[in-house]
Amino acid sequence: MKDKSEEYWKKKLTPEQFQILREKGTEPAFTGALLKNKDGGMYHCAACGTSLFSSDTKYDSKSGWPSFWEAVDKENIELKDDKSLFMKRTEVVCSNCGSHLGHLFEDGPKQTGLRYCINSTSLSFSREKKKDK
Ligand code: FE
Repeated sequence: MKDKSEEYWKKKLTPEQFQILREKGTEPAFTGALLKNKDGGMYHCAACGTSLFSSDTKYDSKSGWPSFWEAVDKENIELKDDKSLFMKRTEVVCSNCGSHLGHLFEDGPKQTGLRYCINSTSLSFSREKKKDK
């Protein structure tokens, strides 16, 4: 989906989603709808639906953005050097559609030491289907 035009995304996404996903924006800390979500399920790319993070790896980093210590599949995310804002950071991008998700830091919990710091606006959540007993 990386060949989709910005016109395509402008029609598909809300203005807020477009600004963050396509123009590498950042939502204000502690405002994201999924920040405090503790339900079991899967976090997808809000632009294209690719599975990105499992609720099993979500934790409270106190940063104000949804944080995960591991991606559900490394193939589904792309890491890029980001030298904007006079900082050297690692940008996290959806590998399917190229949309901006957030940044990766190396101050995460002991499982991996990683913190995927992701905009709530860049994510859509699907609850795990309850298994029939
Ligand atoms: Fe995507």
